[in-house]
Amino acid sequence: MAVDEMYDKCTSLASNLWWSWVPEIQHLFRDLDPVRWRQLDHNPIALLKEFTPERLYERANEMVLFTRINQSYRLLKEYMNSRQTWAANNAGVLGAKPVAYFSAEFGIHESLPIYSGGLGVLSGDHIKSASSLGLPLVAMGLFYAQGYFRQHLNIDGHQSEEYIDTKVDDLPIQEARKPDGEAVMIKLETRDGSLLAKVWEMQVGRVRLFLLDSNVEGNTPEDRQLTSRLYGGDERTRIRQELVLGVGGVKALHAIGIDPGVYHLNEGHSGFGPLEVVRQRMEEDGLTFENALRDVAAQTVFTTHTPVPAGHDRFEPDLVEEHLGPLRDQLGLSYEQLMSLGRIDPQNNDESFCMTVIGLKMSRTANAVSQLHGCVSRRMWSHLWPWRAEEECPIGHITNGVHSQSWLAPQIQTLFDKHFPLRWMDRVGEPEVWENIHDVDPGELWEIHNTLKGMMISFVRRRLTSQCRRRGEDETSIELSRTVLDPNILTIGFARRFATYKRANLIFSDLDRIDQILNHPNRPVQIVYSGKAHPKDEPGKHFIQSLANLRKDPRFSHRVAFVEDYDINVCRHLIQGVDVWLNNPRRPLEASGTSGEKVVLNGGLNLSILDGWWAEAYDGANGFAIGKGTSHVSDEVSDERDGQYLYEVLENEVVPMFYHRDVDGLPREWIRRMINSISTLAWRFSSDRMVMDYTRTCYVPAAGGLSCKV
Ligand SMILES: *Cc1c(COP(=O)(O)O)cnc(C)c1O
Repeated sequence: MAVDEMYDKCTSLASNLWWSWVPEIQHLFRDLDPVRWRQLDHNPIALLKEFTPERLYERANEMVLFTRINQSYRLLKEYMNSRQTWAANNAGVLGAKPVAYFSAEFGIHESLPIYSGGLGVLSGDHIKSASSLGLPLVAMGLFYAQGYFRQHLNIDGHQSEEYIDTKVDDLPIQEARKPDGEAVMIKLETRDGSLLAKVWEMQVGRVRLFLLDSNVEGNTPEDRQLTSRLYGGDERTRIRQELVLGVGGVKALHAIGIDPGVYHLNEGHSGFGPLEVVRQRMEEDGLTFENALRDVAAQTVFTTHTPVPAGHDRFEPDLVEEHLGPLRDQLGLSYEQLMSLGRIDPQNNDESFCMTVIGLKMSRTANAVSQLHGCVSRRMWSHLWPWRAEEECPIGHITNGVHSQSWLAPQIQTLFDKHFPLRWMDRVGEPEVWENIHDVDPGELWEIHNTLKGMMISFVRRRLTSQCRRRGEDETSIELSRTVLDPNILTIGFARRFATYKRANLIFSDLDRIDQILNHPNRPVQIVYSGKAHPKDEPGKHFIQSLANLRKDPRFSHRVAFVEDYDINVCRHLIQGVDVWLNNPRRPLEASGTSGEKVVLNGGLNLSILDGWWAEAYDGANGFAIGKGTSHVSDEVSDERDGQYLYEVLENEVVPMFYHRDVDGLPREWIRRMINSISTLAWRFSSDRMVMDYTRTCYVPAAGGLSCKV
């Protein structure tokens, strides 16, 4: 292979984010320079930039990588050109009119910091599955030049936030272009002047992801910063970001020459978008507002994610008028008519403008993200349909899932490959595929799980050690970090955003009792934590501080670890190595939750409140439940009660089962539960199943006009 040819092939592989779920390609880049690979956040574009074509050729030669490069390159071409996909048989009606999927964040890989938490990772997993299934879908989001913050804890465990500029040159990104080759520039009129945005494009497997960016000449210095951070700034920043995402996103698709058959608004942030689609319809087809709205709503799918009333975006009417006034004029709407689209009671002038309400009013199909969340959402929004009984409210549910290939450890994948049907990775949403888990040797599964657990502990120690060094701590602390945790001990993981309803420190509500559990002489337990609190969430930061400071308490210093700067990379390490994943939100505030679904794939067991996805997943033998699936109006009562339930299930079920070993040293009953968990849950809570559900019950009907109900 010639020098240039090889360099071009590597560049092609790095330029399609397909690599983010194909371990062979990641290993290829890793093997070029393992140390830099890690230091560069596993970013192949950044890694390639460190090589000249000649040096890369030499290195590939040294490492005997030519065959693997050729093979990976061929696989990428095959993948991109393949026409035999699930969607070819099941979503033909979409044809050349793709689904346009709007989301304020996309969590695809740690090197692309345009996500903050669960919502983003869900969107990332959604488009990865759309790619795998061959679904005609394009995605629209915002380009955050600084992304979400990096978290550091100081010596007292206090969180500080650092924003780092993303280097565009290090990303597999290019300017989106119109059919005539010109770069796309979007202009949005407000009552207070105009706002410009350019559009970036990335290739995520077969899916094109577009990202709007307000950092362009012609904008005020303030507006150039508008899209730089996720969830930063005030109400005004927010509504302007949402104007760019919703209205700007629809304009961008039009400019690029994409005519979507379906619009999917993932959460209310993009709720203004359909108004621009209506405007296009009125202009192009000469429809009245009402008729255009009826058509557009029939094509629009809305997903709500928040069971907490305060979690829904609301704006004061003045802000809405400032930003949507010019569009309202074009639509021929009065001020009151526009406001009524965001109000439950159109006549109530005291109601602010709610993005979930406009999302519900502009779509014919709406869904929550788990069965329980569906019930909660119907109750919460029933006032929108006062003439209907609560259970008749048109909000269904499609439970969230995760992208198996992105979260499955390569070692486990190799084990499954031996027993599962050929090309099973293309069929992860089918239950039959996972039945084969019963053919796997329990001892082998256990051994691989323990290997992954060891790797996870090494990762935690490495991270803790560098955290200590950064803070300039003494040798004693560094030594503790190097030896914290024990691979033979039952290991619990807890990592997610530190929103207070998730109750990260519930397990530490009774220090004496948890001391006895963690330091039991024969059956000890240890816990790994990670997670960020929103910069403005002081109680959340306090939770972090109290957990991080446990390392100073001799009772807990070897048993508890807090890994800074939770992101997709930290998550992947933890979910692949823990024995138990703990989830104890205040029911019913966890709409779905997805991190526990990632654990399932790798053989970890869930220990969770019966909330979100777990309320419909738990069957008595595929994990553990905390409590009985009830809610209480008083937070104090439910915290007290759930704390007791948590201790009881740990002491009576989880710990004894883990340490009960047979003559071969295997925890037979535990391994049986691991297998039950994989066989009953992996397919159901995969994003392939989720996207297939969206396709059958939302996208196909919305594109073809069939009647539909989720
Ligand atoms: C999966 C994931 C989440 C979602 O976690 P929940 O348990 O659903 O709260 C959040 N952050 C990151 C980085 C993730 O990978």
